Amino acid sequence: MAEPETMPTLFVSHGAPTLLIEDGPTQAFFAGLGESWPRPRAILCISAHWDSPAPRITGSARPSTIHDFYGFPDALYQLRYPAFGDPGLAERIARELSAAGFEATVDANRGLDHGAWVPLRFLYPRADIPVLQLSLQSRLPPSHHLAVGRALQALRDEGVLVMGSGGATHDLSGFRAHAVDAPALDYAMAFDSWLRQAVTEGHTDALLDYAQQAPQAARNHPTPEHFLPLFAPLGAAGAGRGRQLHAGFTYGALSMAAYAWG
Ligand code: ZN
Repeated sequence: MAEPETMPTLFVSHGAPTLLIEDGPTQAFFAGLGESWPRPRAILCISAHWDSPAPRITGSARPSTIHDFYGFPDALYQLRYPAFGDPGLAERIARELSAAGFEATVDANRGLDHGAWVPLRFLYPRADIPVLQLSLQSRLPPSHHLAVGRALQALRDEGVLVMGSGGATHDLSGFRAHAVDAPALDYAMAFDSWLRQAVTEGHTDALLDYAQQAPQAARNHPTPEHFLPLFAPLGAAGAGRGRQLHAGFTYGALSMAAYAWG
């Protein structure tokens, strides 16, 4: 059997769930990336939508599709992402994180939340790659999430894609006030540009201190959970320079930026 390629790591912005039933540049980007990216043997997704006091890993062999969004069109609630899990890999990730000093446990029942399965439906529409999720800890700082990512570095050599799914900017009041194709709002563009520079120039210390250093940080991320998924893929790649794979906005306020490292 061929040695698996060392996987780059990935951060994507998943936008609003209506992404699933619309067409747009982000959907096309995801589809193209799934075809051009090295094929992972498994995907470990850190989503904005799973938050727990300590790291948890999905251990179900057949994770359910969680429709954790409310007030959207009925069609969205009919969609499924029937990927397998990988219980053995989940156990091993928990052991490795525990060895690195984290109180990591496997959750045998948890399914896949929309932060994971919305982009994956475009990236890998056949759902034929095992998917696991790793929870984030929104009360802990970015440095914690970077350290979790560093503890996952070896997975890349086994062909595991470490993928964060959140939002480069995520002001929901701006989102509610604008149409999907509205022009980008100034305060969102300011943060997005700062982020692009910090990632592509490898300013990890600035990223860790984004709440103080980035323009309009509090307005774009009133709560941190959509930004924190950036740090595990950054750490898993050794915290060097990243590259921007995709840029754009939806609803004026939601940057759809995507980055890769390694
Ligand atoms: Zn979200």
